[in-house]
Amino acid sequence: MRDTYGAVYPRAVDVLVVGAGLAGCLAAVAAKEAGLETLVLTKVHPLRSHSCAAQGGINAAIYEADTSGHADDTMAGSDWLADRNAVELLCAEAPRVVANLDAAGALFSRTSEGRIAQRAFGGQGKLRTCYAKDRTGLVCLQTAFEKACRLGVKFLEEWYVLDLLYDRREGRAYGVVAYDIWNSKPVVFNAKAVILATGGYGRAFKRNSNAHANTGDALSIVLRKGLPLEDMEFVQFHPTGLAGSGILISEAARGEGGYLINSEGKRFMKEYEPNRMELAPRDIVSRAIQSEILAGRGVGPKKDSIFLDVSQLGAAYVQQKLPELRELALCFQNEDLCQGPVRIAPTAHYSMGGIPVDLDGRVRKNANEFVHGLYAAGECACVSVHGANRLGGNSLLEAVIFGERTGLAAARWVKDIELRPAYSRDSSQAKDELSALYNSSGMESLGQLRTRLQETMTKNVGLFRDKAGLELQKWNLARLKKRWAKLRLCDCSRRFNTEMQEILELGHMIDYSRAIVAGALAREESRGAHYRLDFPKRDDTVWLRHSLIYMDHDELSLDYLPVFSSKTTMEIRETSRVRKST
Ligand SMILES: Cc1cc2nc3c(=O)[nH]c(=O)nc-3n(C[C@H](O)[C@H](O)[C@H](O)COP(=O)(O)OP(=O)(O)OC[C@H]3O[C@@H](n4cnc5c(N)ncnc54)[C@H](O)[C@@H]3O)c2cc1C
Repeated sequence: MRDTYGAVYPRAVDVLVVGAGLAGCLAAVAAKEAGLETLVLTKVHPLRSHSCAAQGGINAAIYEADTSGHADDTMAGSDWLADRNAVELLCAEAPRVVANLDAAGALFSRTSEGRIAQRAFGGQGKLRTCYAKDRTGLVCLQTAFEKACRLGVKFLEEWYVLDLLYDRREGRAYGVVAYDIWNSKPVVFNAKAVILATGGYGRAFKRNSNAHANTGDALSIVLRKGLPLEDMEFVQFHPTGLAGSGILISEAARGEGGYLINSEGKRFMKEYEPNRMELAPRDIVSRAIQSEILAGRGVGPKKDSIFLDVSQLGAAYVQQKLPELRELALCFQNEDLCQGPVRIAPTAHYSMGGIPVDLDGRVRKNANEFVHGLYAAGECACVSVHGANRLGGNSLLEAVIFGERTGLAAARWVKDIELRPAYSRDSSQAKDELSALYNSSGMESLGQLRTRLQETMTKNVGLFRDKAGLELQKWNLARLKKRWAKLRLCDCSRRFNTEMQEILELGHMIDYSRAIVAGALAREESRGAHYRLDFPKRDDTVWLRHSLIYMDHDELSLDYLPVFSSKTTMEIRETSRVRKST
C-alpha cells in the first residue's frame, strides 16, 4: 500500500508503535535494533509531538555518589503513591540514558568546565536537572527521531489510530485500525505487538499547557475494550502557565531564581513553604497560587493571576538561559520577562495516571494478569513513577527509559510468536462509526461541546475538588456523552477532514474524563495533585493504593492495586512530606 506521498508501507509488521514522541521513537529504535520490522503511526509529524515542547530539563544524578537522593526526592514528591521499584529503576538508569543522549548528539548546555549543566527544579534536594537552554525536549526528540530514521524505522504521519484489534477471549492485541487523515479512510494494520505511546491528555481542561494532539485517544480506546486505567484522578496543574492561554512558562524560570509575587508585592510562598519557597513540589505551589487568587490577592484585570518575576536576574542572563520562555511570554501575552513580571496561573499540565503497565511496559488486563502483545510507554502509561505528583524533569526521563525498555520487551515477545491475522472486516465498526457521522442529522456543535467539557472539568475537577462538584461533573459528562452522539458534521469532505478527527477526539476526551471523575470521587483523601476540600488529609490507612477504573457497557467500576513500597505504611505516615532543601 502507498501513503499520501506515494511511498510504500507495510500493513503487517512485527512491532507497531502508536505515537512518535520521545517514548514512541525510542521504543521503535529498540525494536528496530532487535532486527524487527517496525512501523510508527502518528497523527502529527514526529517533531510536532508534545515532547518537543518540554522546556526545563531531564533529571539525572550524574555527578552524585549514588542515585538514592533522586529516588527519595521522587518518592516524597509523589506523596508516597509511586511504586518504589519503578522509581529506583528510573533513577538508577538516568545517568546512563542522559550520557547516551549526549553521545548521540543531544546538545546539552555545559558548565565552564565542560560538564553537563544542571539546574534546580522543584521538590529536589540537589541540582539534578540537565538541560539544553529551555529547549530540552526538542533536542532530545530530534536526537531520538534522527536515530530512528537512520535505522530505517518507518513512520506514517497524519494517521489517526481509532481502535485496537483485541481478542478478548485470548487476551491478545494484534493490530490497530487507523484513519488516514488525508483521505478519511480507516485501514487495518496487523502486528505481533502493539506499543501505545500517545502522550498526555491535558486537553480536557480549559487552561492547559498541552499540544492539540494530547487528547488521550489510547486511554479511551483501552477503556472501551474493558481494560483498566490507573490513578486517573491525579492530574497535575503546573503553577506557571501564561494567564491567558495556559502556555507553559517552565519551572526553569523558578529554578533559575524567579519569584512569585501577589498583588501586595509579597513573595507569598513564605507563608506556604518557607524552606523551599518557589521550588516546593508543583502541587503545593499551584494550590498556594490558587489560594492567593481566591483570597483576592490576584493580579491582572480580572485578578485571576499572579506575577512571576525573573527580571532581577538581569536581561542578559534571562536571554541566555530562558530565551524561549521570553519569546512565548512576548508573543502570547506581550509581556517581557527581561523587563518585569509576567502574569501566570496554574495550568493543566501532566497526567500521572494512565494505562497500567509493569516495568517492561506490559499492559494490565486486571490487577493480576497482562494482555498479550500490548504495551504502553511514556505519558499515556502509568508505571507508576510519579504517584500522586510528578517532579519536574522526571517525565522526559520516564519517556526515554520506559520507551526503550518497552521496545526491548516487545521485541522479546515477538520473537516467539506467529502473527495472528487481521482482516478488513476488523475495521467494520470504525467504518460504521464514520459513516454514521457523515450521515448524522444531529444539531449539536463540536465547538460548543468541547468548550463545555473543558470549562466544567476545570471548574469541578480542578485544583480543589469536593463531592458536590464531582457529582455534578459526573452528571455533566453523562449528558455530554449523549449530546456527542447528536453532533453534526459540518464539513463532509473526504480530504483532511479535521472536523471529523476532532469529533472522534472529543468522544475520547469525554470517556477518559469520566474515568478521572470516577477516581476523584472515590478517593476520599487529599494526596499530591488530588485535593479534596471535604477530605483535606492524606489517609494512608485506606488510600495508600492505586485505583483501577474499568468500563463495561458504558458503566464504570473500580478496583485497586497495592502500592509497591519498601517502607511500611507506619513509616510513611511518620515521614513528613516537607523535606528541607540542602
Ligand atoms: C509544555 C510542556 C513542557 C514540559 N516540560 C517538561 C520538562 O521540562 N521536563 C520533563 O521531564 N517533562 C516535561 N514535560 C512533560 C513531557 O514533555 C512529556 O510527558 C513527554 O514528552 C511525553 O512524551 P510521550 O512520548 O509520552 O508523548 P508525546 O511527546 O506527547 O507524543 C505523543 C505522540 O502520540 C501521537 N498520537 C496521539 N494520539 C494518537 C492517535 N490517536 N493516533 C496516532 N498517533 C497519536 C502524537 O502524534 C505524538 O506523536 C512537559 C510537558 C509540556 C506539555
